[in-house]
Amino acid sequence: MQIDTKFIYQTKLIAALQESNDEESLVAKYKHEISLEALMYMFGGGNPKVTPEDERIVEGDIVLPNITDDSNELNGRKAVKEPLLLWPLATVPYTYHYSITDDEKRVIEMAIEHWQNETCLRFKPRTMFDYYFVRFRSDRSGCWSLLGRQPIYIHYGQDISIGKGCAEFGVVTHEIGHVIGFYHEQSRSDRDIAIHINWENVEKKFTLQFEREIDINYNVGYDYTSIMQYPSWAFSKAPFEKNSVVTLDPRYQRLLAKNNGLSFRDKKIANHLYACNKNCPNRKTTECLNEGYLKPYRNDGRQCECECPPTTTGKFCETLVKENYYDAIEPLPCGGNITQEGYIETPDYPQRLWPKQSCTWIVMAPSEKVIRLTFEGFEFAPRLYLPQTKAHKKCVNETVEVRLTNKYSGSIYCGNDITEGTEMISEGPEAIIIIIADKHMIGKGLRAKIEFIKKKSKNIWDLWEKVSG
Ligand SMILES: [Zn+2]
Repeated sequence: MQIDTKFIYQTKLIAALQESNDEESLVAKYKHEISLEALMYMFGGGNPKVTPEDERIVEGDIVLPNITDDSNELNGRKAVKEPLLLWPLATVPYTYHYSITDDEKRVIEMAIEHWQNETCLRFKPRTMFDYYFVRFRSDRSGCWSLLGRQPIYIHYGQDISIGKGCAEFGVVTHEIGHVIGFYHEQSRSDRDIAIHINWENVEKKFTLQFEREIDINYNVGYDYTSIMQYPSWAFSKAPFEKNSVVTLDPRYQRLLAKNNGLSFRDKKIANHLYACNKNCPNRKTTECLNEGYLKPYRNDGRQCECECPPTTTGKFCETLVKENYYDAIEPLPCGGNITQEGYIETPDYPQRLWPKQSCTWIVMAPSEKVIRLTFEGFEFAPRLYLPQTKAHKKCVNETVEVRLTNKYSGSIYCGNDITEGTEMISEGPEAIIIIIADKHMIGKGLRAKIEFIKKKSKNIWDLWEKVSG
């Protein structure tokens, strides 16, 4: 019966692929999660540190213009607070450098269309009257762009580099995000209410990549699913082994850098930033509830409708269907809080019938006890074979992180890393197991016994007291 379910799923998938016409398969080709190669350029130290024009690249993919006055480097980074760095009339003139191929143009145009559909931003081919403009080019190494409209590039144009491996929908959407004035999500001034930076796991020379910015977020909440969010291993000393960025609530770790387009909150901030609804005839009379906002005005004299968050429905977003923003985007498929001894296992163990079964278990023992995990089975997608890269022999496609000593940092496993009978013991009364599973459904999953045991005493005098009775 279980095998039938898998068969049906795969049959549906094949049928869906066969049915898709050329245009749809083109979308499927580019609209996937951002590839590992592109992520490594942006957040794995793969991008150059300076551009050929000698401008510094910070936070992985943001170019700082060479400003000749005595302003410090942060001055170039206050885009969201600095109206001069926004594009007047929400219009971004652009050109293609001769290095851009037809295929790359298709991807760029898909990303432009996405931004135009969701905001009032307009991208138009540059004319001789446009003194400020962006230039897409693919003859340089890496994926990067500048933050906002940078006045010093008047007449010259500012580059968006779509280097080798960067011509992807998600990457171009992200780089355009910088150009219209977006920082990275985790550099928001309020990031500490949502994420934790494991400074001990950040490569020393990259600690500056985690600075907080002075910004305005228009009361729009932090968003793990933002297209501007770093992946969990960004600028880590040991990428894919030690996480640098973790969500305060471990159940949402699976959502980091998995989005391939603008999230609801990305769209909302962009709409605020460019005052997209200021000409809506009903701007003062229609109130969108529960985080909703008025969609951009389309210059057609018609009233603007509410764009509702994933948690609500209704004309004015008045009906709350889910409490939590992230659960509304993607319900947690498995896992939970474990407060009693027993077993944990992945759904359908020892088979894997569904993709993306990313479970998170938070195990809590009584305060005087510690947790012993005994693995009875463990099999996931194998370690990656990608010689001469930082991802070689690492757990990239699927990860199982076990946190035994630190609430935010643990060890990462995959493949057949954990043999049957392996025991792991927590330091305190809490242990966290986070599975981030992909679509391949390789292996049988995980099954482990949970026991609450007495903490072994490390103090020699405690031992002496026990021995002497
Ligand atoms: Zn970026």
